Amino acid sequence: MANGVRGSARGTKGLCHANRPLYLFSGLTKCGICGHSYTNNGRRLVCSGNRERGVCTNDRTIQREVVEARVLAALGDRFLQGPAFEEFCRVFWSLENEARMQRRANIVALERELSKCGRRSSK
Ligand SMILES: [Zn+2]
Repeated sequence: MANGVRGSARGTKGLCHANRPLYLFSGLTKCGICGHSYTNNGRRLVCSGNRERGVCTNDRTIQREVVEARVLAALGDRFLQGPAFEEFCRVFWSLENEARMQRRANIVALERELSKCGRRSSK
């Protein structure tokens, strides 16, 4: 090593795993009472303000998998259906079709140009 520093245990996993959250909503779940993060205590989430700092009265816990399932269901209910989502799909496919037609037109133009080049070189 040039500077004498060896890779840590985390560093040996490579860039793909560096600084990645361990769970789906790691760092995103906050206590509604004190605002501290909810942290893992086994498979349950607990308020770190209560458990680690003793500054919060909220001692309620919840299974991490329950939080993940509820949030994913809410995202699906709120954003992946209804008029706004239908409009998104309509615009998306309109733009996608337009791009596909443009790509096809470019291919046809290039094939035509290639054909002209072939005719010139055979003369
Ligand atoms: Zn709290």
